[in-house]
Amino acid sequence: MKSASTTLRSADELCEHALVPRERISELAEVAARYAVAITPAMLDIIDTSDPRDPIARQFVPDARELEQSPQDRRDPIGDDAFSPVEGMVHRYPDRVLLKVVNACAVYCRFCFRREMVGPGRGGLSPAALAAALAHVRAHPQIWEVILSGGDPLVLSARRLKDIVASLSAIDHVKVIRVHTRVPAVAPERISGALVRALRAREKATFVVLHVNHSRELTKKARAACARFIDAGIPMLSQSVLLRGVNDDVETLGALMRCLVECRIKPYYLHHADLAPGTAHLRTTIAEGQALMRALRGRYSGLCQPAYVLDIPDGHGKSPIGPNYLGEDGTVIEDFQGRRHQYPPRA
Ligand code: SF4
Repeated sequence: MKSASTTLRSADELCEHALVPRERISELAEVAARYAVAITPAMLDIIDTSDPRDPIARQFVPDARELEQSPQDRRDPIGDDAFSPVEGMVHRYPDRVLLKVVNACAVYCRFCFRREMVGPGRGGLSPAALAAALAHVRAHPQIWEVILSGGDPLVLSARRLKDIVASLSAIDHVKVIRVHTRVPAVAPERISGALVRALRAREKATFVVLHVNHSRELTKKARAACARFIDAGIPMLSQSVLLRGVNDDVETLGALMRCLVECRIKPYYLHHADLAPGTAHLRTTIAEGQALMRALRGRYSGLCQPAYVLDIPDGHGKSPIGPNYLGEDGTVIEDFQGRRHQYPPRA
């Protein structure tokens, strides 16, 4: 059995839809009890159940290795807690804040860096917590940008999103509202006209950043959902996570970046996978990521080049991690084919 009309959430349901063999149910039920599971009908539709290495299944179907903890794993891998002035907010950089409006998602990704905090039924910020978060933004005129995150903000109703965007729009010094979401790809039917209108803020720039890791996630319906934002004047960027067995070869990564650009979505970030608990089997090394970025630059248009970044543990923020083409003393530059050149050239 393959298609489903509702989101799959238990090991039993995964078994019924041929995503896991019956003999693995008990171990996967243990994983599901530890970390939330959700596979939407849109994602179930594109999983090839005959392929044990399917890159979509690998992102959403639980794996017994998630119960293994590596010594490097951390509950809060990017150090959100240390920079949270009020509930639901992370204020790490001077000019922007992250507002985690809800701790639920449409799907639960096996590599999620907030996997200890997100899950079904965790709901949105309470009205009092949201009011405190908005008060923090109002009190800090240096906050130029507010990033709506979670969880996935687009699981909220259009009405609730409209209220949040309206509150932010009323703050003069906030000029940009950025929404990070996986919903246009994993539940494209949610991107209704009402939801698109809810995100349009008067006199503010709104950006939607799509989290997508494989070109197959950009189905016809997903592309149509993204086009609804872009045609309404909301530009889109993308963020992807470099994942072993999902997108860690240049053809797969290049195909994803090209698909995004063809959809008018500018590739923005390629994240090195965070040290989230039970995700060591999905992480690559940084050297592997840098080699992929070099190969990407050699073969694909400049439009297809995301920034490869690492969120430094303990809350030290994001840094680009190369590769670097300029020698340490600034006099030798490497080209896209790996050849080195003196700069400036000798007379
Ligand atoms: S959608 Fe984002 S927050 Fe939700 S599980 Fe996936 S990575 Fe985590």
